Amino acid sequence: MTTLLVNARVLTMDDRRPRAEALAIRDGRIAAVGSREEVERYRDRESDVIDLGGKSVLPGFIDPHNHFAIGALESFWADCRGARSIPEIQQRLAEAARRTPDGEWVRGLGYDHHALAERRHPTRHDLDEAVPDRPALLLHYSHHQGVASSRALAAAGITRATRDPAGGEIARDRTGEPTGLLFERAMSGVESRSREGWEDRFVEVARRASLAYAAHGLTTIEDAAVTPAMARRYAEARERHALAIHVEEMMVGSDGWFERPGDAAPGRTLKLFVDGGYRCAMRVTRDGQERTSGFLFYDRSELADVVAGALAAGRRVTCHAIGNLGVERAVDAIGDALARVPGGRGRVRIDHAIFLTGELVRRIAGLGVPLVEQPSFLYDVGGMRPPPGVDVRPFRTVRRAGIRQAFSSDFPCGSLSPLVGIHAAVTRRSRSGEVESPDEALGVHEALEASTIEAARVMGLEDDCGSLTPGKRADLIVLSAHPGDVPATELLDLNVLQTWVSGLRVYPA
Ligand SMILES: [Zn+2]
Repeated sequence: MTTLLVNARVLTMDDRRPRAEALAIRDGRIAAVGSREEVERYRDRESDVIDLGGKSVLPGFIDPHNHFAIGALESFWADCRGARSIPEIQQRLAEAARRTPDGEWVRGLGYDHHALAERRHPTRHDLDEAVPDRPALLLHYSHHQGVASSRALAAAGITRATRDPAGGEIARDRTGEPTGLLFERAMSGVESRSREGWEDRFVEVARRASLAYAAHGLTTIEDAAVTPAMARRYAEARERHALAIHVEEMMVGSDGWFERPGDAAPGRTLKLFVDGGYRCAMRVTRDGQERTSGFLFYDRSELADVVAGALAAGRRVTCHAIGNLGVERAVDAIGDALARVPGGRGRVRIDHAIFLTGELVRRIAGLGVPLVEQPSFLYDVGGMRPPPGVDVRPFRTVRRAGIRQAFSSDFPCGSLSPLVGIHAAVTRRSRSGEVESPDEALGVHEALEASTIEAARVMGLEDDCGSLTPGKRADLIVLSAHPGDVPATELLDLNVLQTWVSGLRVYPA
């Protein structure tokens, strides 16, 4: 059966035919894009013909760096966003403990220590008081640090004798005893244990979560941190048709988010953390003095070996790197790896790259490595004044250098809706109205490319999605107005009216 969508303003995001007025869909794929007459040829006796009344049609949005599983499971956990004091957090954890089945960990999320009256992070003892009878983990909103209770530390084998891992730190009191606060890689083991049991219930929440994504116009995403155990849950969810959109997986190690994936890890993309998240690796020169800060997870030769090994085995590699020193380490190692495995070019990317320098931009362009950036952070967190000699989110400079750039939300670290990121990339304006480096703004069409076709390219999926091109999947959205017609400041007010995945309308359901 063929479905015809007619009387539409189609923005294909395919340069060979940028605009059209109709589409024909057959077997979940696009059969034709063009004028009404051109697609009429695909009409048969059972064809559905849908008149879109002149509305705009675009390819579905693609989010190549998202944390779908974590976001979906959050409904089970204590939401500590907006908490103003430690007793308030304790109360939310205790409430969550009452509805947590026996044997499961209590998990809290989203606290911000700067917003707490006590002006400090909670400690293991604060958590022990709230949840005395089982392990508890409270995650910071950054997802890159968290507080473990005494039972949680014991379960992960963290004692005063435990050494800090490369890329992490166990906070300690004056006597050397762990306070419960774990930075970056020191949190890996506790974090993965805290959700193991909850992951059994992924299928229960996956359907509703994926429908919420579809309501934002998302049709393909990549989960940027999937452990081998979580990959089995994804397989189960697909078998039970619980995912309403396409979900790709980026593999991390079996011991958690920040751990290197083993060679045996399934999946085609490996995720490697090069530096921290909240404490990314920076190199800044002030008053003639060079200072470095933050965590680096690998030395150069070790990282080059891992990248080269994965590329030689035919895998794709994503390097998380945020600070300019983190990006420098990634660029050094990727350069070394590509010299050994030239065929790996095009299969390695850098995600985040928030702090860059002119020199780094030149080197990234030279290596042909694409960047996956998060403009929504600019909106959510606010504008930043970069340290001297460093550029923050220099989208325009990156594009001018010929580097491919794709956008992502990093949800739940950033807002899920791609329109938030597109709006921020075009206006450089935060939620509170601050404007960050306005020279680095992109045009609407460029921001749409970064959220569709370029996002498909960084995942190697450009033959399947990212533009409305015959042969690709019929993943598309209907918008309330044409993005190029509305003032940039109103991009946030656009509504996704319909979302189609593989030729079927999934939103509204
Ligand atoms: Zn992420």
